Amino acid sequence: MSTMRLEIVTPERKVYEKDVNMVVVKGVAGELGILPNHIPLVTPLKVAPVKAKIGDKEEYLAVHGGFMEVRKDKVVILAEAAELGSDIDVSRARLAKERAERRLEQKQNDLNARRAELALARAISRLEATGGGNGRED
Ligand code: ATP
Repeated sequence: MSTMRLEIVTPERKVYEKDVNMVVVKGVAGELGILPNHIPLVTPLKVAPVKAKIGDKEEYLAVHGGFMEVRKDKVVILAEAAELGSDIDVSRARLAKERAERRLEQKQNDLNARRAELALARAISRLEATGGGNGRED
């Protein structure tokens, strides 16, 4: 099975660098599955988990927006923050989710409401990327 290099980089560090068979992301226009030799592409990403397939294994990463650049044999994702699912602190993400939900329930000005919405999206994405549930109310 052919592979391509997947790199996920934040301003702080290189979060991920591996040869993968497929990468699935949520672009602003919808979900995209990228295989090796895909046509070159640049797209902004939503705050959502990224899935990397290596053989019959799947790895999830929480990627908080940013951009993806696809080249023939390489995919680079640049994001403000990103974490490997296995590195995510679940209780911290749950607390962040509850905090954001509380803030959204309070009457807020638009800027604070937008901040809380983004914090909620990050927390849900982190919980999804741990594979331990969908992060939404359950
Ligand atoms: P919190 O309110 O818990 O800080 P946040 O969404 O405001 O969450 P960010 O500003 O997105 O946090 O991230 C700050 C730094 O902390 C980044 O380096 C990010 O990778 C890391 N981080 C945030 N939440 C978690 C988590 N639940 N597990 C592991 N790392 C996290």
